[in-house]
Amino acid sequence: MLTHFRVAESAVGGAVRRVWRTVLAGAFALLVAAPALVASPAPDIVMVSVDCLRADHCGCYGYGPKTTPILDAVSRSGVRFESALATANWTLPSVATLLTGLHPSRHAATHSYSPIRDGISTVAEQLRAAGYQTCAIVAITFSAPALGLARGFDFYDTRVPEVFLGYRPILGFVLAARQWMCSMIGNWSPNADCASADAVELARAAADWLRKPAAKPRFLWVHFLDPHYPYENRKPYYAQFHPEPAPKESPDFSIGSDANQVLKSFDEFTPAVRKHALALYDSEVRYTDDGMAILLGGLNRSRTIVLVTGDHGEAFGEHGKLGHGSDMHLEQIRVPLIVSGPSVSAGVVVTEPVSLLDVAPTLLDFARAANPGTMDGGSLVPRFDGDTAGTSRPAFTERQTMLLTEGDYSMVDGGRHVTMHVYPFTKHEPDVAIYDWKTDPGETHNLFDSLPENLALSSRLHSHFARMYRTLGGDVVQGRAASDPGEGPSDDLRKLGYLR
Ligand SMILES: [Zn+2]
Repeated sequence: MLTHFRVAESAVGGAVRRVWRTVLAGAFALLVAAPALVASPAPDIVMVSVDCLRADHCGCYGYGPKTTPILDAVSRSGVRFESALATANWTLPSVATLLTGLHPSRHAATHSYSPIRDGISTVAEQLRAAGYQTCAIVAITFSAPALGLARGFDFYDTRVPEVFLGYRPILGFVLAARQWMCSMIGNWSPNADCASADAVELARAAADWLRKPAAKPRFLWVHFLDPHYPYENRKPYYAQFHPEPAPKESPDFSIGSDANQVLKSFDEFTPAVRKHALALYDSEVRYTDDGMAILLGGLNRSRTIVLVTGDHGEAFGEHGKLGHGSDMHLEQIRVPLIVSGPSVSAGVVVTEPVSLLDVAPTLLDFARAANPGTMDGGSLVPRFDGDTAGTSRPAFTERQTMLLTEGDYSMVDGGRHVTMHVYPFTKHEPDVAIYDWKTDPGETHNLFDSLPENLALSSRLHSHFARMYRTLGGDVVQGRAASDPGEGPSDDLRKLGYLR
């Protein structure tokens, strides 16, 4: 009996132990599975945009001089998009795209006096609605709240002269006209007034904000302006990139007027002057990278998604241009795009072209926030494993001028880059160029006359924008415009004189 009892006790005990093992195993399984069963807290999100930052001047994109050691480290810890294209070649329309996920012709902030269209919500508004605390610390000439970039930010800190903050669209128009007139005589540029915006100062303010205790997840947008013209000599970095003295014949690139006006004639942009200008620019990029270190030091990497990009590029004599906003070659529109964070794989490189249209929906995806379904871009998260098969889409860029019938347009589609300049008020045929940008990244060989598909490519670019302009209006707020590019030559192209 006793033995039996013992056996029975042992059996009971075994059953109890089995039950406990089951309970413990289940509890352990629940703990292990907790991230899947119980939603983890939404991550903090930090978006950094750097003005005028060319992708090919960053170390992680193959640049030789050590301009971006911190950004390179971020790249190694995350996903780098090898071919990211801005939607515009100047600031306001490009950053408005970052915030809205819309093409410039749809958000309408296409001139320095044009705000983001009423009724269009920004990613900051959408994240705030999803429970985020939102903050922008930005140095942008066009950061006046009236232009719409401040929408949705609980805290909006901008480092520009007061005149830009107070202006309304009508005053913006006057300023734009004044800038245009002054550019003719070469003595004024609004960006010169922002030369004091300092990456380290900006980063300290951003890091201080991040260190404050918060009950909600945070969305922070920081925009650094330092690499923008005028170029300062950032010591000690300039000397690292340009050990010899600055050429005596060089103009002063630190004074306040447009770069093209500093050089009275392009003949003055000698190889020595160009080397000097590039070293000044690189020193500003390197200084901005110092700011990046301070900013990253303020955040909790274990719970923060970091996205770094640029708003457009900068030309240094390529295709006869200086600065930006003047044409659609890659030096003016290709920017870095890097994402890092706790849920992001390390060391992934995505080679297929992507557009900055995709940034806003990607941020919403990370935040698990509702996507309004009206954005032109799509989340890049599905491409984070580097497998981009079947996901490639053309990347479009546009620049509208004050003369509404004039403009520059661009499409990167696969290995082809099509650029188009449409002339105002004349029947002059548009200038079109097509480049194999993968084998000719400097875009020195126009293939238009030698490609059998030249008309189809040009038509695809033109049709895209023709459809965009036809569908402008309430549909931007209500739903998606019919912006998918068409195939084959269009009537619009025929009207422009391509096809006879
Ligand atoms: Zn810019």
